[in-house]
Amino acid sequence: MSLATKYRPQDFNELVGQLAAAQSLKNALDYKKIGHAYLFHGARGVGKTTMARILAKSLNCVNGPTSTVCNTCENCIAIAEGRSMDVLEIDAASNRGIDNVRELRAQVVFAPMQSRYKVYIIDEVHMLTNESFNALLKTLEEPPNHVVFILATTEIHKIPETITSRCQVYAFKKFNAKEIAERLQQILEKEGIPYENEALLPIAERGEGSLRDAISLLDQTLAFSGGNALTLREVREGLDLLPSETYLKFVQALNAGDLHALLNTVHEITQAGGNLRIFLRDLLTYLRALVLVSESIEVFSLSKSESAAMAELAKHWDRHALIRIFQHLFKLNQDFSQMLSAKSSELRILLEIQLVDLVEKLKEPSVSALVSKIERLQSAIESGKAYDDREQSMGSPPAKPAAIPSALPPSQAPETKSSDSAADASEIIQKAFLAEEVTLPPESKPLFE
Ligand SMILES: [Zn+2]
Repeated sequence: MSLATKYRPQDFNELVGQLAAAQSLKNALDYKKIGHAYLFHGARGVGKTTMARILAKSLNCVNGPTSTVCNTCENCIAIAEGRSMDVLEIDAASNRGIDNVRELRAQVVFAPMQSRYKVYIIDEVHMLTNESFNALLKTLEEPPNHVVFILATTEIHKIPETITSRCQVYAFKKFNAKEIAERLQQILEKEGIPYENEALLPIAERGEGSLRDAISLLDQTLAFSGGNALTLREVREGLDLLPSETYLKFVQALNAGDLHALLNTVHEITQAGGNLRIFLRDLLTYLRALVLVSESIEVFSLSKSESAAMAELAKHWDRHALIRIFQHLFKLNQDFSQMLSAKSSELRILLEIQLVDLVEKLKEPSVSALVSKIERLQSAIESGKAYDDREQSMGSPPAKPAAIPSALPPSQAPETKSSDSAADASEIIQKAFLAEEVTLPPESKPLFE
């Protein structure tokens, strides 16, 4: 059994997150104010179906309707095992036609077999056709007393207003990384698996708001670690993550305009069979964290040592350059997403050329940097104080000539030179490509893709 199934919350007490929705539903149950149609909406993996099953159980538990289900009566057990005759889960994606809804309408009139309510959980309800929505609407307008509909959707904007206006609507939020990490911690403790606290952060972050996805990733990582203690190292390997120092060094090299160091990193990643799509996406996450840390905003997914290193880096960072770097790489990431069938060698070429372009652009002053400079000059003139040109040194080329890329064998190493012009930069790239033919394994055998 997967961990996600094994640890699916069975009642309101076990729920993680979605506290606002849970509290309203609990109150309604305790005051016996039962609606006939509920609509749960939110991203995937945020607990809509779990909440729907808990609500079904709360309605049909022998002690119900109650917000504290027993989990031991025949109704509770049958619902948990998905075999209750009175709780029907329908996937609207595969039952979207008018005939399906007509059949449903014919069924709702019959009284429940074993319990108080007949509960219809309709998942992905936005997939219904217009005709089906109209047919469903007729039932929602005059529902039999023993029927409760729980509709769930990831796309609320596709639900006709005639339907939403007949439902009690609950918005389900994405989980934040902290909530996800807490849940992962509970699961590991129940499983008796030792873990490093810092190992949970990358998994929580990679879940991107979906608890279900994060728990599946935990499952995957535990399979990778062979049931041993869960360490940060194993998580990084299991999830194809590069060590955070790689991003730190890369960002330092960007800030210094050190093209050789940047291209070396790209070379090392591909050499080790790493995935450039994942690298670029995680680099953007790292840059975002850098912006937040520079604004003294706590970033939960960073370990203490990462936070300290980032805070130090942020002190020397030019905000204008940072924003330009982010925009440039964000656009590149979009391009990568559209090149689904591109080979890793093609992605590498694109990334390298874009890095050359970016380093060149960073040498030009941005409009906002110029405006800021004028403002500082103006304030120096007005106050009669000395002009403070703090931003001048930021994003400037490295003071000493850049080193030869270590990727190049000595026989092909170019003369040591600075990366002052686009012509020099393209020469470096050209030589790096030549070197690659000699030193790299064939691109057709990436390790991780
Ligand atoms: Zn019960």
